[in-house]
Amino acid sequence: MSRNLELFERGKQVIPGGVNSPVRAFGQVGGTPRFVKRAEGAFFWDADDRQYLDYVGSWGPAILGHAHPDVVKAVQEAATDGLSFGAPTEGEVEIAEEICRLLPSVEQVRLVSSGTEATMSAIRLARGFTGRDLIVKFEGCYHGHSDSLLVKAGSGLLTFGNPSSGGVPADCTRHTMVLQYNDVQQLADTFKDLGDKIACVILEPIAGNMNLIQPSAEFVQALRSLTEQHGAVLIYDEVMTGFRVALECAQGLHGITPDLTTLGKVVGGGMPLAAFGGRADIMAKIAPLGNVYQAGTLSGNPLSVAAGLATLRLIQQPGFHATLGARTARLAQGLAETARKAGVVLSSDSVGGMFGFYFSEQVPTSYAEATRCDIERFKRFFHAMLEEGIYLAPSAYEAGFVSIAHDDALIERTLEAAARAFARIA
Ligand code: PLP
Repeated sequence: MSRNLELFERGKQVIPGGVNSPVRAFGQVGGTPRFVKRAEGAFFWDADDRQYLDYVGSWGPAILGHAHPDVVKAVQEAATDGLSFGAPTEGEVEIAEEICRLLPSVEQVRLVSSGTEATMSAIRLARGFTGRDLIVKFEGCYHGHSDSLLVKAGSGLLTFGNPSSGGVPADCTRHTMVLQYNDVQQLADTFKDLGDKIACVILEPIAGNMNLIQPSAEFVQALRSLTEQHGAVLIYDEVMTGFRVALECAQGLHGITPDLTTLGKVVGGGMPLAAFGGRADIMAKIAPLGNVYQAGTLSGNPLSVAAGLATLRLIQQPGFHATLGARTARLAQGLAETARKAGVVLSSDSVGGMFGFYFSEQVPTSYAEATRCDIERFKRFFHAMLEEGIYLAPSAYEAGFVSIAHDDALIERTLEAAARAFARIA
């Protein structure tokens, strides 16, 4: 029996579904999850000692590749001085300064341990700041697993959302509206009707949780102007896009100054670290300055901060994002070309170190369009690539991630493997 299967069976006895986060169970693609033994650069090795070229990268953090020596060293050194203090450290001040310097919209920032905490706290803060309850999110955008954000669209336009998970009281989602991504008219109508009740709008400024979907320029401009006009807080959830799509993040690419920004993944360099920050007048409402409560035993953990700082330094090397973006674009374009040659319908897109490929004629612009892709074909492609030693996200609704360790030769190797995989599924 494969060691992966053996571990999966053992795990299922003591961990629900054998995994600690649902997508890891391969539920959408079927088969046995790969249990990772170790990882280095662009690769990981599974429990059967098989090597895979990894395009998941811990779902985003591994922008330098796995186990970058500088990051590992920073964590090791920090560990020698103690693991957690529950008292402030110099590193926390340093990383906050670095984040504020890199993101002009962030005047003050608070560190937390996960993206879920960052978005949950940012929403509480927006509500506390505005004194309003209603929040607006977009279908297909994922902002972590706090109750008020686990919401799917209601039955009609401009209806309130329903819980998308068991255990979430309808009361918790009564204050969440779910709109369609890229639908400027619906957004304008919503503000016209309810503008004075909306505390905030939260979005993935480049969506990566319904495959990769980009917003139109009109959409982000409408978001900025409508929230400003109506006194609502605009939250750019850059947990995934932050420092990955560009050093200046999605907000820099869009030329938009949000009121609050959430960060995670890359900012923690593979360790549990996330952050929320923005306008100083809004951040002043957070405890201990203001009455919006927020806290964390492990917030600003010194090992996480050390990994984050080392990562932020390395990604500021000249040309880092240009190189990463060019390789990712070559991969995305190469996948579409290779598919076409094999007679497979496929479109693709990329921004910085994030990419998407879609078994559909056109790049989708909304959740509804994303779900119209050929999922059966995706599953067969996923497994064909896995056999080639290429590890893609085990879900058709997730973006892919490239690291700087994925050099040109590895991208070409991926495209050669894809040509064989497309031929098999054509
Ligand atoms: N926000 C976005 C855009 C995300 O992609 C994620 C996770 O994938 C989260 C929030 C939640 O982050 P975490 O899994 O660290 O709680």
